[in-house]
Order: sequence, then C-alpha cells, then structure tokens
Amino acid sequence: MMMKTKHALAFLCAGACLIMSACTPECSESSLFAMDTYMTFKAYGENSTEALSQVTAEIQRLEKLFSVTDPNSDIGRINSSLGPSDVSSETAALIARSLEINKETNGAFDITLYPVSKEWGFTTGSYHVPDSETINELMKQTGSDKVTVSENIVTVSDGAQADLGGIAKGYAGQIAAEILKENGVTSALLSLGGNIQAIGSKPDGTAWSVGIKDPENTSQLAAAVSVCDKAVVTSGTYERFFEENGTAYCHIIDPKTGCPVQSDLLSATVIGYDGTLCDALSTAFIVMGQQKAEEYLNIHTDIDAVLITTDHRIFVTNGIFGDFSLIENSYSIIPHSTLIKKGERSEPDRNFPFSIFNFQF
Ligand code: ADP
Ligand code: MG
Repeated sequence: MMMKTKHALAFLCAGACLIMSACTPECSESSLFAMDTYMTFKAYGENSTEALSQVTAEIQRLEKLFSVTDPNSDIGRINSSLGPSDVSSETAALIARSLEINKETNGAFDITLYPVSKEWGFTTGSYHVPDSETINELMKQTGSDKVTVSENIVTVSDGAQADLGGIAKGYAGQIAAEILKENGVTSALLSLGGNIQAIGSKPDGTAWSVGIKDPENTSQLAAAVSVCDKAVVTSGTYERFFEENGTAYCHIIDPKTGCPVQSDLLSATVIGYDGTLCDALSTAFIVMGQQKAEEYLNIHTDIDAVLITTDHRIFVTNGIFGDFSLIENSYSIIPHSTLIKKGERSEPDRNFPFSIFNFQF
C-alpha cells in the first residue's frame, strides 16, 4: 500500500501553485501548517507584516471552528450530537452554503460523506478498501438532506456527520483576502495548499501567474493562468490517494457510491472571485466528470475552469482563455472538434455557445 499526500510537495508546488518571484524590501512572507496543509503567504506594502499576522491568527481561529478531527470544534460537536448544535454564525453560514452548492451540483458536492471517507481511512490514516456491506450501511448516514441550518443551530439526523474539507480552505482564502484589503494591502498572493488566492495584481501592476501542475508529472507544470484578485483552486485525484492491489483510491468520494471517485478528470482548476465556491466546485467537478462539469460551466459563465482529462486533453473556458498559457509545449490544441496542427493556437470563438476549449497533449 502506498500513500501519497500533497504535504511532501506543498512547499515546492501545490495543485495550483505560486510561480515565485524575488521578494522586494517591502514584501512580507509567512507560512503555517493549518487545515491539514502547508500554507504560504506573500504580501507587499507597508502594512503587509501586520496584515499577514492577522491572516495567520484568523486561519488558526477558523481551523478551530471547522476541524473535523477536533471533537471541540463546531464540526466536532455537530458530528457527535445526533441532533441540534449551537454553532458560530460562520460555521452555520458555511454549512448552509455547502447545502446550496450540493443542490447546484446535483449532489456531487456533499459535506455528509465523512462516515464513509473515515472508513476508507482518509481522516484516520488506516487506509483500506471496506467491504460493500460496510459501505452500504454507512451510506445510510449520508445525504445533505440530513442536515438543516436555522440561524446558528445546525441539526443532523440519522447519524449524519459533516466535513468541510472540500470548501473550508476556499472560505479561509477569501476571508484572508478581506483582512489584507482592510489593512490596505493591494498586492498579495496566498497559497493554502492547492488553493491560490490573489489579492490585486503584482506590485508592478501586472497579473499574478499561477501554475497548474501536470497531474501525470507533478514536479512539472502543465499550464499557467494570469489572474488579478481571483481565487485559483485545484482539486486532483493525484493529490491524496492510497493504492491497494494496483488500484488507486483518491480522497474525493463519489456521493452515489460511497467509493473514491473514478473520474475522467485528473484535475479541475476553478477560477473566480468567489473562493469558497471555487473550492467546492473544484471538488464537485472531479465527481461530475468532464461532460457534466462542462454543462455546469456553460450555464455559469462567471466561473472559469481548466479541466485536465485522463485522455490527455485540457479544456479551458472562454473567460480565461486569453490569460491561459500552455507550459508543456508538447501539447497540441484541439478547439472543439477541429484538429489544428501541433503548436498552433487558435483564438477562442467568442460566439460559440460552448465556451470550452480543448487542448490535447
Ligand atoms: P484538498 O482538500 O486536497 O484541497 P478538495 O478541495 O478536493 O481537496 O477536497 C477534498 C476533501 O473534501 C476531502 O478530503 C474530504 O474532506 C472532502 N470530500 C470528499 N469527497 C467530497 C465530496 N464529494 N463533496 C464534498 N466534499 C468531499
Ligand atoms: Mg475543494
């Protein structure tokens, strides 16, 4: 059995990663281990040191609310309650948001899979393939309809348990961005594991460049996107998994089966202003697979995405296409179904209703 976590690589390059530049004198940097991942922060300007220390304190505070392994966190109390729990307004709001996203993604994003993912060993470290009877029994405890939120009271039924692991880092990044802006910071880049949150632009006014790992060779980048003020969040089946009898089992669970998802997407990078939503969608897209993710993106044009498939194609939404660069130049490009010669790149067809572009490598 082999377990691979993002931790070993986190300082080098996360799922989406920072392309680091030299730090000028007015730049502050800090890092911490929180929410089960390494986080690195870089901010510019005179208040940046104080602002980053506030960010660190805030993330540690949020971790105390959301941690699924801490019995005293809001989530820990909900999960041992078998009924109503009085929680902070933030926890209640983030759970309510998760329940909305569950509906929007037709159930793909589901915070109630904790009893199942625990059985597979993803939170305990005792990785193993459970027998189907055990999974079926535990699946009776899952389902977002078993969680209700009314003001600060979260009520669970039928032994349901919540896990905000697929959304908490996106929320934390968004809150961190607000803190930095309140402190007058107009240029910063935060990496919360695979979640990148950009604040403003680089100090020279140009966009931040955020790398997207090549899922098949995670020490390299497949592509990069240029962004200002946005979150860039990657989920990948390669990020955390174990192998048993030659099969890889990843930490994203298919809510329909209770098993690690077998997706035709190796990674999903979601780009937008709402970091909380981007985080949840990056997880949901892996569950939904390429076609359903495309359908979602065609309707929700305020969200951009870069989807890397198991058959070596990269889909890029129209909104980010102009800010997308392919790094691995052996990739060739196929916009829609028309094959273009290797190395050639076509401009996105702004009138085409399918706002997805398709690269092949
Ligand atoms: P990471 O936490 O590695 O950045 P994700 O954002 O994709 O990756 O979140 C994966 C985490 O989300 C899992 O570790 C688990 O806590 C939780 N999770 C697993 N499957 C789902 C799912 N279908 N919907 C919502 N959350 C999930
Ligand atoms: Mg996520």
